[in-house]
Amino acid sequence: MSMNDFAVLSTGRKMPLVGLGTWKSEPGQVKQAVIWALQSGYRHIDCAPIYGNEPEIGEAFQEMMGPEKGIRREDVFVTSKLWNTKHHPDDVEPCSPKNLKQRNSSVASIKPTVLQVESHPYLAQVELLAHCRDRSLVMTAYSPLGSPDRAWKHPEEPVLLEEPAIAALAKKYNKTPAQIIIRWQTQRGVVTIPKSITESRIKENIQVFDFTLEPEEMNQVTAVHRGWRYIVPTITVDGKSVPRDAAHPHYPFNDPY
Ligand code: NAP
Repeated sequence: MSMNDFAVLSTGRKMPLVGLGTWKSEPGQVKQAVIWALQSGYRHIDCAPIYGNEPEIGEAFQEMMGPEKGIRREDVFVTSKLWNTKHHPDDVEPCSPKNLKQRNSSVASIKPTVLQVESHPYLAQVELLAHCRDRSLVMTAYSPLGSPDRAWKHPEEPVLLEEPAIAALAKKYNKTPAQIIIRWQTQRGVVTIPKSITESRIKENIQVFDFTLEPEEMNQVTAVHRGWRYIVPTITVDGKSVPRDAAHPHYPFNDPY
């Protein structure tokens, strides 16, 4: 079993630095992926009702967790999310993690403790990370590998996993580009939630606690930043793809944080 390390939340609870993402992990695949992850040492699963697969993730939990099964429910950090149309109090309960069974009865803290945003070497989020640290917030990086299985992937977009500076470090440490990226995030205290349904990659993505990047290598990875967002909802206007919400007064992606 792999080791995992933790970020400590302002509540004192520990959040494993590497979790399994589950967006785009289809029913029929996601249960096995979660089982492989738990068997490989993951104790953090990132979910959402909008991903359409929580019932199957719940089945994996039931199969893997329990008094005689070696993993306790309280050992596993489970994230779920409310979609934008589900913020009314009446809509919260049906979306709460009871879909994952074994729901925690105490839902307590009001103060946010974690901020989940897109982050990877092409979107290093340096200012936002400093902002989070100032406010005792832990940052979770979504789409940490550049989300290459997105339906709207553009053929001309930069391919993070082929970035030469990262490939050079991968060669030096006999690791993969994905492992260098995940290590870089964990080493600066950022939680990552790489998604995979492939057993070898699920194992690979948590094998990042047996090497350390030098300070200048950390800087080299940060330096490939190019302010690139892969996860931007777009619409087509006059035949061109443009950000869907850019005209909104609170559009968040024009600021560094
Ligand atoms: P990602 O984790 O950056 O990339 C997933 C893709 O990378 C899949 O195609 C996967 O392939 C591949 N992959 C995984 N490990 C690999 C490795 N070691 N080497 C090469 N390829 C590898 O993308 P993501 O799914 O967009 O983001 C991760 C998670 O963040 C999501 O699943 C979701 O839980 C969360 N998320 C949250 C939000 C939000 O709004 N809060 C938005 C986006 C994502 P296989 O699966 O085929 O192995």
